Amino acid sequence: MLSTIKIVLVGTTHPGNIGAVARAMKNMTMTNLCLVSPKIFPSADATSRASGADDVLSRAIVCSTLEEAVDDCELVIGASARCRTISWPDITPRDCAEKILIHEPGRKVAIVFGRENSGLMNNELDLCHFLLRIPCNSEYSSLNLAAAVQIVCYELFVATGVKSEIQIGDKGQQPLATAGQIESFYAHLAEALVDIGFMHPDKSKTIMRRLRRIYNRIQLDTKELDILRGILRMSQGNKRKN
Ligand code: SAH
Repeated sequence: MLSTIKIVLVGTTHPGNIGAVARAMKNMTMTNLCLVSPKIFPSADATSRASGADDVLSRAIVCSTLEEAVDDCELVIGASARCRTISWPDITPRDCAEKILIHEPGRKVAIVFGRENSGLMNNELDLCHFLLRIPCNSEYSSLNLAAAVQIVCYELFVATGVKSEIQIGDKGQQPLATAGQIESFYAHLAEALVDIGFMHPDKSKTIMRRLRRIYNRIQLDTKELDILRGILRMSQGNKRKN
């Protein structure tokens, strides 16, 4: 049941943490690990800290960008200890588990964790629908990477038990748009807003970030995305074909 959930680690510096994450995941029956530009991997430190979860390490996918890692995902959740200037929709690990397993079972999901020293950058959170924050001491809120992964995977594991007690029928939903489809939509939106004179290309960064906040809150499905892209095409006088 947890096999559609991908744990993504961005720019991990210490290979031991990668091993500890593999162990934390396997304890909770999760195996889908993706590493974005790890500083050192593979590594003996990672294997030793995995302590028997080296199968998770050997199956780990290594990508060079976060865009590539989440391209096929319908729901992307970024874990961060830090408050941001623009607020992202905020959820706890429990909300996250309920959202994934009870409200939207079977969706392809990525949960993204940042670097040990600097976390996730704003342009990485731009790819996320939600920001996951682990409630803790507000004056000392940064957990070790593997400890953070452990808490999130534990909540997912517990929620699988709850889910098996609740029979949820097929709601006949449209598939949610993947991160790759949403990125093409944002590129099209930016182009259309410049074309219709709403936005200047040099001053587009903040407005696009705010627009992403709006659309990421909604979680568009593929049908809705088609409608929005049709509207953009019409507003551009049908000049763009895809
Ligand atoms: N110093 C970094 C934190 C790095 S901890 C910062 O300022 O952001 C490494 C990663 O563990 C973070 O990027 C985040 O993905 C996760 N993490 C640590 N503490 C967390 C918390 N309280 N809530 C959510 N994620 C957390």
